[in-house]
Amino acid sequence: EDDEGGEQQYLFKVVIIGDSAVGKSNLLSRYARNEFNMHSKATIGVEFQTQTMDIDGKEVKAQIWDTAGQERFRAVTSAYYRGTVGALIVYDISRRTTFDSIGRWLDELKTHSETTVARMLVGNKCDLENIRAVSVEEGKSLAEAEGLFFMETSALDSTNVKKAFDIVIREIYNNVS
Ligand code: GDP
Ligand code: MG
Repeated sequence: EDDEGGEQQYLFKVVIIGDSAVGKSNLLSRYARNEFNMHSKATIGVEFQTQTMDIDGKEVKAQIWDTAGQERFRAVTSAYYRGTVGALIVYDISRRTTFDSIGRWLDELKTHSETTVARMLVGNKCDLENIRAVSVEEGKSLAEAEGLFFMETSALDSTNVKKAFDIVIREIYNNVS
């Protein structure tokens, strides 16, 4: 809505969750800085990156949070989720166990969220077609069953990375405006 006091500001918190080593940190670095790291180490301390974009002529800031590797200990805290309005729930298409964990991540997200959360199921590492362990169909049908957006991505070759974040952020905007 227009008001004479100036531009309306939007700040959206988005979290990236999923098992260890599915590529969460690299999805964020690819999206925010166009960087990829073959030997990325678990981040120390909670980290987020802020991306600014324009939606319908409005300035929208997305604050995208990456876990500090706590997911290895199943110790992602409620502070991490506080205020979340968007989430990428990530598995690795070459490791079945990471897909089997999605239900648990969805439960945890639900437990910690107070409001509508725009959710995207992300099958990362789609460049690893030769060792694929989860079919596209399986990803799609889980997403349909749970009411999630779905996309396969590659942080390595950039496939669909920007698209996945942009869809979530636009959906958040639609939810609040
Ligand atoms: P996180 O623990 O979920 O944050 O995962 P990282 O981003 O640290 O990535 C774990 C490992 O997977 C690293 O060796 C990355 O280089 C690798 N990786 C991440 N994304 C991709 C991808 O899209 N394709 C491939 N082939 N490797 C990836
Ligand atoms: Mg990480």
